[in-house]
Amino acid sequence: MNKPTLDEKKISRVVIAGGGTAGWIAAAALSKKLGELLDITLVESAEIGTIGVGEATIPPMRVFHRLLGIDEREFMRATRATFKLGIQFENWGQQGDRYIHAFGKNGRESWLAEFHHFWLEGRVRGIDSEIGDYCLELQAARQGKFATSTQSSINYAYHLDAGLYAQFLRKFSEQYGARRIEGNISGVEQCVESGNITGLRLADGRLVEGDLFVDCTGFRGLLIEQTLHTGYEDWSHWLPCDSAVALQTEGDNAFLPYTRSIAGESGWQWRIPLQHRTGNGHVFCSQHLSDDEACSQLLGGLDGKPLTDPRVIRFRTGRRRKVWNKNCIALGLASGFVEPLESTSIHLVIAGITRLMQCFPYDGISPSTAHRFNRESREELEKIRDFIVLHYHLTRRNDTSFWRYCASMEVPETLRERMELFRDSAYAHQAEGELFRVDSWVQVMVGQGLVPRAHHPLPKLMSTDELSRFLAGLRENIQRAVSPLPSHDAFVRGYCQAEGCLD
Ligand code: FAD
Repeated sequence: MNKPTLDEKKISRVVIAGGGTAGWIAAAALSKKLGELLDITLVESAEIGTIGVGEATIPPMRVFHRLLGIDEREFMRATRATFKLGIQFENWGQQGDRYIHAFGKNGRESWLAEFHHFWLEGRVRGIDSEIGDYCLELQAARQGKFATSTQSSINYAYHLDAGLYAQFLRKFSEQYGARRIEGNISGVEQCVESGNITGLRLADGRLVEGDLFVDCTGFRGLLIEQTLHTGYEDWSHWLPCDSAVALQTEGDNAFLPYTRSIAGESGWQWRIPLQHRTGNGHVFCSQHLSDDEACSQLLGGLDGKPLTDPRVIRFRTGRRRKVWNKNCIALGLASGFVEPLESTSIHLVIAGITRLMQCFPYDGISPSTAHRFNRESREELEKIRDFIVLHYHLTRRNDTSFWRYCASMEVPETLRERMELFRDSAYAHQAEGELFRVDSWVQVMVGQGLVPRAHHPLPKLMSTDELSRFLAGLRENIQRAVSPLPSHDAFVRGYCQAEGCLD
């Protein structure tokens, strides 16, 4: 009888290379859900460390935690987390502008036409209001308020400490049987015939063998790129920022329930409020700004006293040509990166590991499974990419060569079509499998100043009185829901105050 090839034998030993957010998310999900079938080992190197950023998240993380049975308060205390209702974009459309992209729904739609068509008709008839007046989460964010309960429908995510999150997930994973090995991977062993990875050689000589390898080694892509030479599709012509400088400052006790994204001369700065500190960063384009200039602009605009020195991080936006290659699946920064503007990277890790678990190749890897996995991952990322490119392209800023480039650059065809559709007819849609909903597309397109020339005729059937009452009713309901909410910081203190914080 022929010896079975690796592809035909049971896949039960999973080795995760890397213990950043991606590695530990993968370990947590696999050990909790498939731990009884699989032997899970994670190799990480404290000496190399993790990227140390990645602290703003989006709402699907809550679903992931629920599936894993993670208790929200425990998780928030452990990671010194706060709540996030969206992102405030400042100076993006033009200098002095500000709008919030919130996680909530805009108004109430009809099956024929989304809500913003009613809002646009109201504007034509002189009913003056902002699209954000019809979104609960946006109004709560603007007023610095927050509360959640089992009855509440408020949609939110978290700001968290990335290092503490990895520690939290490590404890969780080990409890469900994942094994951690501390060590520096100095070589990757492959089957001569198939090219499949068979083991990770550590600097001290140990060999960690496995059937399936999850590459979570960050930008290095130690397995997917350095070993398997999978290739990378570069998107820097659409997303030209390639660097960031990050530092932490003392926190503000009245922390905001949203991330701030402040556009600057050649990039933008983030402010992420946690219970014990604020995360700050400046994402910039090195062709237009030097590291020193980027650091001094960041230091010049800080609200609190620095706790760490500025640290420069380089990146290249784009995607790995295949995230599943042979018996290796890349997750996190090893799989590609579309800059942190909409806090989508951790979500993509969660989506990737969920996808892997849904088609886990226990009886052997088939090309059709890997092919489907790659197609779905590519499509998911391309849609997110378009949404992020939208923020840069849809600007009226022309004060620097960076913004002039962004405003005039060619954008992906898929995005160009969306923008034209919205400009011509106010039509916005959520494509199949797409993360961002119509509400998100509308908030950002309107927020950045894209005014549709026409909209759906349905609201024209309403008299001005009817339309006015309909819109006023929605606004009043939202204010009625928001006004009794406590302030965000008061709620955090009562709900999930971490030890040693906010005293
Ligand atoms: P890393 O954190 O780099 O971890 C890599 C791991 O591999 C480490 O444990 C390292 O020790 C290990 N490793 C590497 N080489 C070896 C070796 N030879 N031997 C042993 N171990 C090795 N995402 C969000 O969702 N929200 C955000 O707000 C956000 N902000 C960001 C801001 C910036 C500037 C950047 C660059 C990214 C941001 N991200 C954000 C992305 C986010 O940081 C990552 O998606 C997330 O942290 C996962 O990183 P990772 O685990 O893939 O990589």
